[in-house]
Amino acid sequence: MSAPRRPFLAGNWKMHGTREEAARLARELRGIIGGETERDVAVFPPFTALAAVREALEGSPIGLGAQNCHPEVKGAFTGEISAPMLRDAGCAYVLVGHSERRQLFGETDDTVARKLRAALAADLRPVLCVGETLEERKGGRTEETVRRQIEAALASLSPADLERITIAYEPVWAIGTGLTATPAQAQEVHGFLRVRLRALFPTAVADRTRIQYGGSVKPDNIDGLMLEPDVDGALVGGASLSATSFGAIVRYGRG
Ligand code: PEP
Repeated sequence: MSAPRRPFLAGNWKMHGTREEAARLARELRGIIGGETERDVAVFPPFTALAAVREALEGSPIGLGAQNCHPEVKGAFTGEISAPMLRDAGCAYVLVGHSERRQLFGETDDTVARKLRAALAADLRPVLCVGETLEERKGGRTEETVRRQIEAALASLSPADLERITIAYEPVWAIGTGLTATPAQAQEVHGFLRVRLRALFPTAVADRTRIQYGGSVKPDNIDGLMLEPDVDGALVGGASLSATSFGAIVRYGRG
């Protein structure tokens, strides 16, 4: 039997927070979970707050990530930030293909695949987000959608690349809506994703890959989700903007 996967709890702060607010949130969080040794934790502040949060988290086990990157290393791409720039800013992680990027900013599977490669080339650890819309779920196309998304992103990557990637299953209908997938619904898709990963990569590597659930995760629903065998963590939006609630999510199951 393979070793259990280390839980990974991540907070996506989206477009919230001045430098001061973000640093305060990071300091508060550090006060609550700064001694965490059994679970991986990371926060994803807006670009402008990366430096302030990096300073506030210096020497703590809480990792730093960005919410997006450009596929190219540099060039005439006004307003964009490249993966090496994020590495230089102290990021260890980057979100790739978040549904808000796909839906509001027109990111295609191809763009997501290019960003993923750029993140890996810059030695970042990408969190690859996939998930179906409500229409796709109602139409019975959940598996078809997430299969297309992960295959487009991961095809032609090496097992060593996959070792650096976390998958986040985020049903679009559950993001920011207060509607969470039930643990059984999450497990159904996570289990499917695991099978697809095993079809693409050596089983041992597929079985080490962490699959986070995201979509209205709160302190009162995390315990049930984390009981599922293929739910290895959470990507948290709204509830990560409060140190108390994100701290409680990180400390799930400990009473
Ligand atoms: C997200 O943005 O990745 C997310 C899951 O948001 P929320 O927790 O607010 O649904």
